[in-house]
Amino acid sequence: DVFYRELPKVELHAHLNGSVSCPTIEKLISRKPHLNIGHGMTAIGKGQRRTLDECFQVFKVIHQLVDTEEDILMVATDVIKEFAADGVKYLELRSTPREEKHTGLTKKSYIETVIKAIKQCKSEGVDIDVRFLVAIDRRNGTEVAMETVKLAEDFMLSSDGLVLGLDLSGDPTVGHGKDLLPALQKAKNCGLKLSLHLSEVPSQLEESDLLLDLPPDRIGHGTFLHPAMGGSQGLVDKVVKHNIPLELCLTSNVKGQTVARYSDHHFKHWYQMGHPSVICTDDKGVFSTDLSQEYQLAASTFDLSREAVWKLSHDAIDCIFAPDTVKQQLKQKWIYLQGN
Ligand code: 5GP
Repeated sequence: DVFYRELPKVELHAHLNGSVSCPTIEKLISRKPHLNIGHGMTAIGKGQRRTLDECFQVFKVIHQLVDTEEDILMVATDVIKEFAADGVKYLELRSTPREEKHTGLTKKSYIETVIKAIKQCKSEGVDIDVRFLVAIDRRNGTEVAMETVKLAEDFMLSSDGLVLGLDLSGDPTVGHGKDLLPALQKAKNCGLKLSLHLSEVPSQLEESDLLLDLPPDRIGHGTFLHPAMGGSQGLVDKVVKHNIPLELCLTSNVKGQTVARYSDHHFKHWYQMGHPSVICTDDKGVFSTDLSQEYQLAASTFDLSREAVWKLSHDAIDCIFAPDTVKQQLKQKWIYLQGN
């Protein structure tokens, strides 16, 4: 629907390697035919579902295809242009810096290459403001988390405002947030913004309670925080007290089977409360979606008027990690586009 495509949008929860489109995967496969990777292994199609565990297997396959600076440059450039073509005006990309000994890729060159892609798109005049969040994979534990914070801090100070913060992601059934707390605390103290995946699976309530005391600047998913989803009022109270926006990814949660049906999605509980709720894609490549489609799904599932959809995309501006001057520019853009 052209309304959703033309709607100016803000994307705040997009993992780089989960966002790789089919055409880009094709290019990667032709670069590495010896890996024998087929398309069905990198994306979950319409009507298909996978367990969360199977979703994490998909990321491993994509990581095999994306292991050089050239790959990262191509993937990041393609992803940015695809978001721009979908009407996204402001994008916070996140990715886990990886070291690949056999190709010479280092965590530092990984981040440098993403920054290069952002700058390249900007110099080509692509109509999108892109920022970067450095991701911590929770599976890798305390020490790696601490190193990642240091790396992110260095880039925050040297990237002209392109690196804004940290993401905590990775398989939610592995590791415990308490081991990562010192690193996250340090990140916060040095001015990095924090977006944490919280309560993606039901067993994480204690961890969420602990991490909410930081408090984070945004929450990824937060699927099981609300009492209607098996969480607790105490957790909701903390989220509300600190006014922490939620990044909500409908298709991802349904295809990853942490939410049974679109109509059961926790968007409805938070949106009804008037709590800042931002519609996002998570992994547009893996889950075969885009942000326009996610807005359209939210509107059709929860019966939102076009005015309500405009307000939803406009209110997302207040949840970005870039400074107030950027928020003002985006709000001007929304006003201008609404008038046209
Ligand atoms: P990358 O960080 O390599 O650019 O993107 C893929 C990675 O993002 C995955 O390996 C995983 O750590 C993280 N990721 C992507 N989608 C999800 C999700 O739905 N939940 C969690 N917890 N992590 C995710």
